Amino acid sequence: MTEFTIQDNDFASLAGKVVVMTGGSSGIGLATTKLLLDLGASVVSGDINSPPIEHEKLAFIKTDVTKWTDLKALFKRTKELHSRVDHVFANAGISGRADYMADELDEHGELQEPSTLTLDINLKGVINTAYLGIHYMRHQEPAGGSVVLTASASSFQRFRVTDYCTAKHGVLGFMRGMVPNLQTSGLPIRINALSPSWTVTGMVPEAITHALGSGVQTPEVVARSAALLMADNARQGQLIYSWQGRFMEIEEGVLM
Ligand code: NAD
Repeated sequence: MTEFTIQDNDFASLAGKVVVMTGGSSGIGLATTKLLLDLGASVVSGDINSPPIEHEKLAFIKTDVTKWTDLKALFKRTKELHSRVDHVFANAGISGRADYMADELDEHGELQEPSTLTLDINLKGVINTAYLGIHYMRHQEPAGGSVVLTASASSFQRFRVTDYCTAKHGVLGFMRGMVPNLQTSGLPIRINALSPSWTVTGMVPEAITHALGSGVQTPEVVARSAALLMADNARQGQLIYSWQGRFMEIEEGVLM
């Protein structure tokens, strides 16, 4: 892991770009939306809830990432509004529900499964958003763009919320599978992921953020890693871990 700092000019290339985002109505997504708008980008935001802000460069399309038709409508509308898709931030997620031994039976004597909703939003929703983004990026003129996935520290650490941990490992697995495919495709499309540790958002109970004290970071700090990975200077397959407001790049190995 290599620690580094992020400078404002690292994401200067985002001015004038078109970003499709999921989960932009609160927390990390909202902070990233504000940063992107400040930088002069246009944001088309898909979320089940409306954003608490209005801006001439922000369009909101009510979107449930578990619904393929909603996601298709989000991208179609973006194309209608802006004629292209430069960057995608697949960020929507929920906190997960499963905190149990997998072999414990429920009150009906049935085997409990990790929550399918968590897997549908946090894993399948992310994959489908990314696939649609790549589809648009490869079929526009000129082709190109970047996809940023919100993974988590629990993408590579043990975390007892089993369904969340499973989904987030999957997000990183998806990126690791896509990188060599995008590289061999020759298309100028990048895929990267941020892996925040505990961040003060509505997702994290106050008791946890309180107990962690200085171990938590703000969504505004995490937003900077999202913008960095979207921008033109980012490489292919970068993974940025943020912890206590500090950024670390995790170097990835390659299996031939
Ligand atoms: P948040 O609850 O503030 O934001 C999540 C957003 O996703 C909300 O706006 C919510 O309305 C939206 N959303 C939920 N279900 C959706 C659906 N089906 N379709 C569309 N939108 C939906 O929480 P956050 O912490 O900002 O979470 C953003 C991302 O960051 C998530 O993927 C989360 O797993 C990840 N993350 C958070 C932390 C943390 O400590 N907060 C740490 C690591 C990763």
